[in-house]
Amino acid sequence: MSNPSILILPGDGIGPEVMTQVRRIIDWFGEKRGLVFDVSEDLVGGAAYDAHGTPLTDETMAKAQAVDAVLLGAVGGPKYDVLDFSVKPERGLLRLRKEMDLYANLRPAQCFDALADFSSLKTEVVSGLDIVIVRELTSGIYFGEPRGIIEEGNERVGINTQRYTESEIDRVARSAFELAMRRDKKLCSMEKANVMESGVLWRQVVTEVGKDYPEVELTHMYADAGAMQLTRWPKQFDVIVTDNLFGDMLSDLAAMLTGSLGMLPSASLGAPMANGRPKALYEPVHGSAPDIAGQGKANPIACILSFAMALRYSFDAGEEADRLEASIETVLAEGLRTPDLLGEEGVAPVTTEGMGDAILAA
Ligand code: ATP
Ligand code: MG
Repeated sequence: MSNPSILILPGDGIGPEVMTQVRRIIDWFGEKRGLVFDVSEDLVGGAAYDAHGTPLTDETMAKAQAVDAVLLGAVGGPKYDVLDFSVKPERGLLRLRKEMDLYANLRPAQCFDALADFSSLKTEVVSGLDIVIVRELTSGIYFGEPRGIIEEGNERVGINTQRYTESEIDRVARSAFELAMRRDKKLCSMEKANVMESGVLWRQVVTEVGKDYPEVELTHMYADAGAMQLTRWPKQFDVIVTDNLFGDMLSDLAAMLTGSLGMLPSASLGAPMANGRPKALYEPVHGSAPDIAGQGKANPIACILSFAMALRYSFDAGEEADRLEASIETVLAEGLRTPDLLGEEGVAPVTTEGMGDAILAA
């Protein structure tokens, strides 16, 4: 059998800086744990535009379709603001998501104990928190037709349409149930079936899919009540599945339960491939951070945690992912901080590479 394959797309700004640390960790797994990956690297975003005049070449697109997982850094930067919309760096990422048909966006909210006082909530509410929000990413009110601003009588009307087909709900629900099976086997589905027809259908289809996953405890909650419960006692949840719009809001809310943008990973999953694992792209939630690029200040943990998600969801290596996350917990407990994790004066920050060194040592 050939080794599992990864395509690395470092991108722009701090993307290459944080990805260098991930690369070292991938090599470590090969050397020390016998978990060898076939790694290839390519350009995306502004870097690809500079080299090829397009933010994503067809060759790179084809490679992304062929590998087991794509790891992406970040794209964009002020240098590219003047470009035509069709070749903007972000278009490279959008093309990847669209052509790989990545319909399930996973955003974990995971609290590292050493950073629990970073949260705006009480420590006991967030310490030990480990939940994942699955947001439907390719349909719903962001795409539904009709949409637009029309003239009606003597005023303008802004229109969007919330629209979900049964198959769109079915496939994202399956992703969420599969995820729940690999975690604590608890899934909460959120919609507003009390006021929205799409919510009524959402609840019906999720319930039907649930019959294929009898081991998973399924609950339903209205999304507004869910927002309240997420801030009141988030540890009651394990996996949450919701639509595009509610997911946008709830995942930002949940992410901020735990601290800095430099700590937040994400995964975008599509349909299962021949090996049974989903098509997948893993990336930190943060952007290219041009304000700190090239200064060794970037926190690599979001990108490293994105690789931990890849270990767990693309490579069936959950224990190795635990090992990696435990080493991050260790270095944070030892007091290592990149500048974004420093509130007060007096503690000397470590560099991007210093953080990578410490995680490898741990
Ligand atoms: P995008 O439009 O690409 O999402 P953005 O404008 O939302 O980008 P980011 O690039 O994510 O913003 O940066 C927002 C702020 O967070 C910046 O001040 C940046 O320096 C900081 N930041 C982002 N990522 C990191 C990181 N990994 N480590 C430290 N600081 C970060
Ligand atoms: Mg942003």
